[in-house]
Amino acid sequence: MPVIATRSYDPSFQPWWTKRGMTLGMGMTEKQGGTDVRSNMTRAEATGDGYRITGHKWFMSAPMCDAFLVLAQAEAGLTCFFMPRFAPDGSVNAIRFQRLKDKLGNRSNASSEVEFVGAYAQRVGEEGKGIRTIIQMVQLTRQDCAIASAGLMRSGLAHALHHARHRSVFQKHLADQPLMQTVLADMALHVEASVALVMRLCRAFDRTPHDANEAAYMRLLTPAIKYWVCKCAPPFLFEAMECLGGNGYVEEGILARHYREAPVNAIWEGSGNVMCLDVLRALSREADAALAVLQDLAAATRGLPGADEATGFVGNSFRRADSERVARLAVERLALLAATAALNEVAPRQAELFALTRLAAGHGAMYGAVDFDSDDVRALLARALP
Ligand SMILES: Cc1cc2nc3c(=O)[nH]c(=O)nc-3n(C[C@H](O)[C@H](O)[C@H](O)COP(=O)(O)OP(=O)(O)OC[C@H]3O[C@@H](n4cnc5c(N)ncnc54)[C@H](O)[C@@H]3O)c2cc1C
Repeated sequence: MPVIATRSYDPSFQPWWTKRGMTLGMGMTEKQGGTDVRSNMTRAEATGDGYRITGHKWFMSAPMCDAFLVLAQAEAGLTCFFMPRFAPDGSVNAIRFQRLKDKLGNRSNASSEVEFVGAYAQRVGEEGKGIRTIIQMVQLTRQDCAIASAGLMRSGLAHALHHARHRSVFQKHLADQPLMQTVLADMALHVEASVALVMRLCRAFDRTPHDANEAAYMRLLTPAIKYWVCKCAPPFLFEAMECLGGNGYVEEGILARHYREAPVNAIWEGSGNVMCLDVLRALSREADAALAVLQDLAAATRGLPGADEATGFVGNSFRRADSERVARLAVERLALLAATAALNEVAPRQAELFALTRLAAGHGAMYGAVDFDSDDVRALLARALP
């Protein structure tokens, strides 16, 4: 653990026990299923000193890692394993990287296809409880996806604001044109809500070990927040890019790269529908705890435009026999409600504007399709880039 938990990066290709820091990747997805990892066919055979793993993974990112958490079928079922790059005798482990994926974006994180040819591994957790074991890490990576998407949007906003402050069009800075101000203010509101929401989620992660309410918040809202924040990022970054005009589309700036990066956080670690189904699962397994979370959100947003209706809608949708059919509608509302509550803790006026434009009325398809008064626009922009 000390070698894993250290912050120092040691890029050398050496056995982990000789290194000052190590990195870990994970191998779950196979050709026949990423969501459905129960269909994994990679096999694990117990040997005297651990296990030998044989099989293929269709996606295994960060192949430079010193070890991987891998799912494979052992005698008692799907099990989680720790597979290091070097076997205990110091020989290079039988992990054969076959190809790197040619991806839309996310290019500085290589993603590989890989064959394990009797690769040495140690078991993590019980045999047959692989999903329950690895899900603890997956919860964290889902949180990380939401943080990263909020960060990408924040960066896009900063670039858009900076450009608008310095670019003159028709003898006036873009930042002083009323229509551009509305676009930027609406984007700033979106970012502020997203950041407040992911930080609220981080607080739940921190407090979960000692606080049952926070554990329930984390369980119910991690998939909802991952769903909403990550899926909002691509259209947001497109709008940020457009604020820079033609230069936004050119590779010399960062926005083209941000735009290519944006979709991946929604796709991996549980795609959109899978996140919605996970919210439903949390509701059916821990109904009382989930209801308490919803009641807390209702209390935290009481009096804000559209909040009561949204709470009622979410509660009713999840009680419906056909809840899966309307899950996207309900999960989006749940995330918006949670974002309003998180924003209300730190910026009540902004929370009111957010509720007004996202809960009370369905937001227009484009950023800036809102009716804010000029004081609110000024305040939103001043908060976004002081
Ligand atoms: C850049 C990149 C890097 C990756 N790195 C790794 C890695 O390091 N390790 C690893 O293990 N995996 C990795 N993956 C794989 C990724 O986690 C999977 O692609 C993802 O989990 C989706 O699985 P899938 O591709 O099999 O899609 P599928 O499971 O076939 O899903 C396809 C679509 O169906 C939807 N869907 C699934 N089930 C249902 C349902 N019951 N009802 C309704 N809709 C449903 C999903 O939401 C999705 O939109 C990576 C992927 C990418 C793009």
